[in-house]
Amino acid sequence: MNKPMILVVEDDAPIRNLITTTLRAHDYRYLTAANGEGAILEASSHNPEIMLLDLGLPDMDGVEVIRRVRTWSDLPIIVISARSEDADKIEALDAGADDYLTKPFSVEELLARLRVTQRRLAAQRPGGTVEAVFTNGRLRVDYAAGCAFLGEQELHLTPSEYKLLCLLSRNVGKVLTHTYITQQLWGRSWDNDVASLRVFMATLRKKLEQEPGSPQYIQTHIGIGYRMLRVE
Ligand code: CA
Repeated sequence: MNKPMILVVEDDAPIRNLITTTLRAHDYRYLTAANGEGAILEASSHNPEIMLLDLGLPDMDGVEVIRRVRTWSDLPIIVISARSEDADKIEALDAGADDYLTKPFSVEELLARLRVTQRRLAAQRPGGTVEAVFTNGRLRVDYAAGCAFLGEQELHLTPSEYKLLCLLSRNVGKVLTHTYITQQLWGRSWDNDVASLRVFMATLRKKLEQEPGSPQYIQTHIGIGYRMLRVE
């Protein structure tokens, strides 16, 4: 895989150095910015392929950076925030971030998130068109025919389970928040919709996962949402 150019946005110099040292050691190219204005400038002038974005910046909220960058670019954005800032993470994901890292994070976690994002980039088709058939490990979703298979076996899904599977597969590698998913499925997001989502997720997993207790395809992000992972 060709290593992408990464924009590192972090005002905390020791953390920024940890990230850039890690990137350098793994042959990534990178740019840095220490505030929101710098991030927007670098993103617009150098076309990085992935952005690592601290949410607590001195001049503006990281979420504002996401909103502004999203007006012209869909580059993957991985936000970095402290454990106590779950609400901020959710806001960032809803504003268009793809994934998040919680401080303090390990070098291995950082590299793992970058690999997930690189796979997403590699799977993207030019022009942003969607493939008619999605395959991931043994899972195959035929969007045109409106059905899904696991190996040779057709999955017997309810309409809500199928919609949920399509939404996750079309966003493979990306963390989707409860609010985003319920809005896509039902056009609203009430507390009991999140409860219903959990029920549909449980029944979908029973049909999809070999071991629903340790899911391979759909990852739970407690208090935040779900993500479909690329399976080898
Ligand atoms: Ca900060």
